[in-house]
Amino acid sequence: MRLIVGFGSCGMAAGAGKVYAEIENEIKKRKLNIDLQITGCIGMCYLEPIVDMINAQGIKSTYVKVTPEKVSEIISKAIIEKDGANQYRMDHEDKYILEKQKRIAIRNCGIINPEEIHQYINRGGYAAIENCIRHKTPEEVIEQIKISGLRGRGGAGFPTWFKWNAARQSIGSPKYIVCNADEGDPGAFMDRSILEGDPHGLIEGMLIGGYAIGAEIGIIYVRAEYPLAIVRLEKAIQQAKEKGLLGNNLFGENRFNFELRIKAGAGAFVCGEETALIASLEGERGMPRLKPPFPAQKGYWQNPTNINNVETFANVPWILTHGGEAYAALGTEKSKGTKVFALTGKIKKGGLVEVPMGMPLREIIFDIGGGILNDKQFKAIQMGGPSGGCIPEDLLDTPVEYESIMKTGAIMGSGGMVVMDETTCMVDMARFFLDFTRKESCGKCIHCRVGTKRMLEILNRICDGQGKHGDIELLEELSIQIKEGSLCGLGQTAPNPVLSTIRYFRKEYERHIYDKR
Ligand code: SF4
Repeated sequence: MRLIVGFGSCGMAAGAGKVYAEIENEIKKRKLNIDLQITGCIGMCYLEPIVDMINAQGIKSTYVKVTPEKVSEIISKAIIEKDGANQYRMDHEDKYILEKQKRIAIRNCGIINPEEIHQYINRGGYAAIENCIRHKTPEEVIEQIKISGLRGRGGAGFPTWFKWNAARQSIGSPKYIVCNADEGDPGAFMDRSILEGDPHGLIEGMLIGGYAIGAEIGIIYVRAEYPLAIVRLEKAIQQAKEKGLLGNNLFGENRFNFELRIKAGAGAFVCGEETALIASLEGERGMPRLKPPFPAQKGYWQNPTNINNVETFANVPWILTHGGEAYAALGTEKSKGTKVFALTGKIKKGGLVEVPMGMPLREIIFDIGGGILNDKQFKAIQMGGPSGGCIPEDLLDTPVEYESIMKTGAIMGSGGMVVMDETTCMVDMARFFLDFTRKESCGKCIHCRVGTKRMLEILNRICDGQGKHGDIELLEELSIQIKEGSLCGLGQTAPNPVLSTIRYFRKEYERHIYDKR
């Protein structure tokens, strides 16, 4: 018999620590022969704390919203009396949410104990890198990634194989492979869940990437605000070293050495931009620089460097295990595979979901997410965080794929989906995101530094009922200038929430300005 407590940040915030301690007490008190384990977030944050019970036959029962007070009853009924304590079990509706998903990047999250390497290995972990080193050339690995159609999951959606190939072709030594784990969009926590729930999946993805481009040094740049992720990564790296999965002559073959280290970043949003991230790694202030040269040519310490985000790397072992074609069979023509989304805001079943690309937004929000909290009316969904835009009700049949989402004025981004209901003021929402980007601007470009400040002043006065005739047009004009005059993606996309709310909810802006007179 095994009991497994969901121990991601969401579970712990919901009280998993106390539940775990109470289970430990009960086991001791009743002298039960139970293997007590932890796992990461399975994505159903709204049901935490979650406890899985796996009996001797391997049959799993899942108990949700467990409190320390319920622990004794669950153990009495489910283990001693064997009647299942059904009132606390996950219902069919919630099981259906898992069935609707296709989990590749988060395949191990909520399943394995992220602090025990053998659990990852038992699920086929590190077999893909072993196969690559023993049987594939780096070019063959890149070819599989090309066939898979994997695009960078950090937001830009650039073909992963292309970046890998560019870094492989670049001359310079040593080469570096960097994981951007600086997830900073408000409402996004996909990468954190992978780091906390399946750190070895990321390490293996980086090993494969390192082998493909010829990099023997890997760095994970992770924000310091993710302390649990950092602890689990440190443990995972240590365990991988002890197993000989990091270090020299991996798998006994004299073909590949790899070392991996963690750099905790101070949580600047702009450090998600590749050149700013590299500057921060080098100990400089995190500020973007002009490209070219691209990091693949001159990156960390002027050497060829490839940067991908956590989710991108997490897909890689699966692709090399099942083949690029299997991955490409999922999704749409231009957006292959699956995508992880963080469902937040006014939604009934908030958490993480991984679905094939192309699924309509409506299906994600209403079918998987259970619809709007308190059965209110849906108003809009913000996709792509502060760089994205909002999508209104009449565009809810838009499939989630890079090009279709971009046509709506939003972007796929890293996968944050913030759902808003009829009570949300869209001007206030635009103000919130613009305030975020203004604060996070590194200040290098005047358009971004001053322009976002001026836009925020206008939004403040509109929200305060002091808006003037012409303010909407002024916001539009400033938006265009900021987009054109900014050096990096932060400034180029900062006006998006304002532009998309004006595009779809102009009347709300007008009501703020004119109806109060
Ligand atoms: Fe910095 Fe903004 Fe310029 Fe980007 S656009 S470099 S964040 S000032």
